[in-house]
Amino acid sequence: MAKKIVSDLQVKGKKVLIRVDFNVPMKNGVITDDTRVRAALPTIEYVVNNGGKAIVFSHLGRVKEEADILKNDIAPVAKRLEELIKKPVKFVNATRGKELEDAVNQLKEGEILMFQNTRYEDYDVQAQKETKYESKNNAELGAYWASLGDVFVNDAFGTAHRAAASNVGIAANVKETAAGFLLEKEIKFIGGAVDEPKRPYVAILGGSKVSDKIGVIEALIAKADKILVGGAMMFTFLKAQGYNIGASRCEEDKLDLAKDLLAKANGKIVLPVDAVVNKAFEDVPGVNKSIDAFDADDMGLDIGSKTLELFAENLNGAKTVVWNGPMGVFEMKNYAAGTIGVCELLAKLTTEGAQTIIGGGDSAAAAEQLGYASKVSHISTGGGASLEYLEGKVLPGIACVDEI
Ligand code: ADP
Ligand code: MG
Repeated sequence: MAKKIVSDLQVKGKKVLIRVDFNVPMKNGVITDDTRVRAALPTIEYVVNNGGKAIVFSHLGRVKEEADILKNDIAPVAKRLEELIKKPVKFVNATRGKELEDAVNQLKEGEILMFQNTRYEDYDVQAQKETKYESKNNAELGAYWASLGDVFVNDAFGTAHRAAASNVGIAANVKETAAGFLLEKEIKFIGGAVDEPKRPYVAILGGSKVSDKIGVIEALIAKADKILVGGAMMFTFLKAQGYNIGASRCEEDKLDLAKDLLAKANGKIVLPVDAVVNKAFEDVPGVNKSIDAFDADDMGLDIGSKTLELFAENLNGAKTVVWNGPMGVFEMKNYAAGTIGVCELLAKLTTEGAQTIIGGGDSAAAAEQLGYASKVSHISTGGGASLEYLEGKVLPGIACVDEI
């Protein structure tokens, strides 16, 4: 079940619609991180270097009211694309209409056009109401965008878990739909881990809440050989087992669920044996304590050193490793050791030939910030999308890509 990739398409002389993820962080109209623009370059470059006419578009932020329109003007991103790709990018400040159609028809081989934020279609300025034509996949809108091009390339993984006019709506109305190189990588690594993981397959889960990740935990119980749990969510599991977790973060209403999951996992879930605790949520050195020795005012903010050893033993020889959710409050340097330790373990396993995959907004940010981005096999570009993909759900933005 292989998917068609942009490099499988004949793009010469064709108008190629390219849905990218340019949902970059902005402050007062200035881009604060252009990673997503850089990440999309290979796909756009492939199209223009092979004589295609690139029509590039993306959503930016959410557009629910008139004020969101000015705030989420995507023009600065088109400018940045122009700087990075070192070619002119013709920007059209509209999402439909004659100006856009004329500009598209005037495109020559190798040229690039970008149009306005697709989510401008979520709000009707004249009627002053939210329409969600883009986000709710209005059929007419998808057909209209499709009519602007000859073939469609979806390279936006971050929104692949939602059916929008700019992904499935277009795909339903063009002859050919392929994945861009970024989406290809997500399919290869996350899709690979879901469909046919090389074993042993070990998952590492952390982050803030069990409730955010129930679907993933259940899917991994069925699929993975071991699930190592850290982060704040470890305390809900530990409390469910009867431990005194002091003042650590816990979801009281998820204790029964945690018990059920532990029972279902039948020994696959590995819980920490120690943690680094502090008396308050602040960045001062903590104390490494065994999880059966917490005082009432101890707050666990990271996994402990014995736990890291335990995780290392369980990861030994792993062939597929998926990691979601930081092991502790890595934003504070005194509580980053567990997350750094896991990054180290993944880096080592990568050199030993394992497929190591990081999914999730904060875990990906942690790995990048700590300098491990190039030392693992794959860092997913999606937050919610990578979680749903890991759960084994069908993502509409991937399902709409042609099979080869
Ligand atoms: P991801 O985005 O990778 O899925 P989450 O959003 O679930 O991860 O969780 C990330 C957050 O969890 C981080 O901000 C981190 O500080 C927090 N966190 C991790 N461990 C703890 C802990 N022991 N106590 C409180 N917060 C924690
Ligand atoms: Mg997060």
